[in-house]
Amino acid sequence: MVAERATVLITVKASPEIGRTHGETVCVAGIRLDGDDYHWIRLFPVQWQWFWQGEHPKYQVIELEIDKHDKDQRPESYRPRLDTTTVLDQLPAGKRRAEVLNRLPQYTMCDLVAAKGWSRPSLGLVVPREITGFAREDHTGDTAHAAKMNRAAQGSLLAQGAPKLEFSPFTFKLGYRCQSASCRGHEQSIVDWEISEAWRNWRRSYPTDYLDRIEEKWLSLVAPARLPALYVGNQHQAPQGFLVLGIARDVTPVEPTPVGPGPGDTAPRSSDGRSTDPPRSTEGRLFDL
Ligand SMILES: [Zn+2]
Repeated sequence: MVAERATVLITVKASPEIGRTHGETVCVAGIRLDGDDYHWIRLFPVQWQWFWQGEHPKYQVIELEIDKHDKDQRPESYRPRLDTTTVLDQLPAGKRRAEVLNRLPQYTMCDLVAAKGWSRPSLGLVVPREITGFAREDHTGDTAHAAKMNRAAQGSLLAQGAPKLEFSPFTFKLGYRCQSASCRGHEQSIVDWEISEAWRNWRRSYPTDYLDRIEEKWLSLVAPARLPALYVGNQHQAPQGFLVLGIARDVTPVEPTPVGPGPGDTAPRSSDGRSTDPPRSTEGRLFDL
C-alpha cells in the first residue's frame, strides 16, 4: 500500500482508553491542512506511548504518512505511520487557530444525529446555542470499569518505565441545544484528555470539592463570551452516538452546513450504519478496531 503524506493540525486528543486489540491508545483527530479545503481526519490507532515519549500537544502541526483505515467505515479515519512524524509548528491560542477553525463547516447536532449511515461526517464542529447543564455519572464498582483498571495494571507491568494509566470512574456530560430551530437538546459525554487529567490531578489537590471544580471549569469553557464550539465525533459501532471530544474557542457562528456524505464516501462493510442500538460496550468504544 502506498501511503499518503498529510499535514495535520491536532485539535482532538481524547482520554486514553484501553482495549483488547491495541492496548493503551488515544483517539487523535485534527484538521488536514494540505489540499485546497481544510477537512477532518481521525488517526487511529495512536499508542499512548507516542504521547509520553514525545511532545505532541493539541494545536501542534505535524506532517506524517497515513493509510486509509481498512476496518473503520468512517470516511475520516486513517492509520498513521507515527514513526514518519515531523513536527512543523505549534499554533498559539488566538488569531491563527481561529483562522483555521473558521474555515471549517459548522453542523447542527440534530442534523448529524438524523443523518443515516456511515457516510455522514463522523467528526465536526458544532456551535451550541445554549448550554443547559453539566452532569456526571459515577461508575465506581461497575464491572466494565474494574476490568479496565485490571488491564491497565497488567499493561504497566509489560511497559517498563511507562506512566501508569488511571481511568476515571466518572462520566461527565454536557447538556446543550444546537443551532437547529427545533432542537430539543443533547446530552453527550465529554471525553477529552484534559477532563481525565483534571480528575486525576484535582482529586489529590482538592479532595473535598474536585467534582464541583471540574463542573465549574468546563462550564467556563463554554461560556458564550469565549465563542465556544464543540469538537464532536461519533462511535464506529453506533454512528449516531456522538461524543464531545473537546471544546474550541473563538469560533464565529455561521449558518450551519447541511449534512451530506463525508469525504471519501465508501460502501459499508459490516453494517448499514442505521442501527440505533447502543454500542456493544463502552470500553474501547472509540478505538477498538
Ligand atoms: Zn440539536
